[in-house]
Amino acid sequence: MTPPVAEGLNSELVQIDLLPRRPERKPEWLKARAPGGETFHNLKKLAREQHLHTVCESANCPNLGECWNQKSATFMMLGNLCTRRCGFCAVPKGRPEPIDLDEPRRVAYAVAQLGLAHAVVTSVNRDDDNLGAARAFAEVIREIRAQAAGCRVEVLTPDFQGNDESLRIVVEARPEILNHNIETVPRLYRIAKSGGRYTRSLEFLRRAKEIAAEAGWTQATKTGIIVGMGEEMHELLAVFRDLAERRVDILTIGQYLRPSRDHLVMQRFYTPDEFAFLKHEALAMGFRHVESGPLVRSSYHAQEQAESTGLA
Ligand code: SF4
Repeated sequence: MTPPVAEGLNSELVQIDLLPRRPERKPEWLKARAPGGETFHNLKKLAREQHLHTVCESANCPNLGECWNQKSATFMMLGNLCTRRCGFCAVPKGRPEPIDLDEPRRVAYAVAQLGLAHAVVTSVNRDDDNLGAARAFAEVIREIRAQAAGCRVEVLTPDFQGNDESLRIVVEARPEILNHNIETVPRLYRIAKSGGRYTRSLEFLRRAKEIAAEAGWTQATKTGIIVGMGEEMHELLAVFRDLAERRVDILTIGQYLRPSRDHLVMQRFYTPDEFAFLKHEALAMGFRHVESGPLVRSSYHAQEQAESTGLA
């Protein structure tokens, strides 16, 4: 049925969807196994004992069961409240507590206890203290080196509001992988990532390599994008080109799943074939590794991604 339009208005120009939207059913390819098992419970206990947060739990990641059973978790530092309000993100928002200076040591302890070969550490955004946030990332890298020798470190950081000194602090601590997510196409930043700036994130990824090159080493960089929030295919490819121009090494592409009715509406599911197409196009642009699939998230198969680039 065509929705009625107000009298006198041109029905070709005014399209108001008055029908309640029925949620689209989740396709088979998006169904993940429920978490459980001994390794899963041990990891959960360790995180609780050390008062640590994982983004896996805070962001309702669908891969939690699979990843945790493979001893792969992404620790989230700097509290459990984010100063930004990205429309797609399930991490709780609010005014955060002061930065916990002992947290990097406890994250490293958990990494050592789990015997991880590749640790991923991220944080909420701390627009209230960009330098403090950067120092915490540098500290967690140093602590993991000290407590879990041989473990590779991947940090997934905020943009530090473009503060160059903060970025320098993190790069100079020499993480094997520096990840900063571009998240979406520039047209959708206003509704999806209002605290972020597309060009600032691109510059962050470019500048990270430049800082390392000036000091004489190569910094591997990584980014991620979520699809299904209303972007067009040509916009995605334009973003890939921008990233490839900044010589970003690793790209992750995953399906947006709406965390709750308070979050941004999911516009559509991409099919596995479309994910394969995006991967093919991105690889042709020069990325060293592209992880693309419905359930892919930033840290999904992070260890394998790093190994396959030969950079870490
Ligand atoms: S910055 Fe945005 S995506 Fe990152 S934790 Fe905060 S709300 Fe979520």
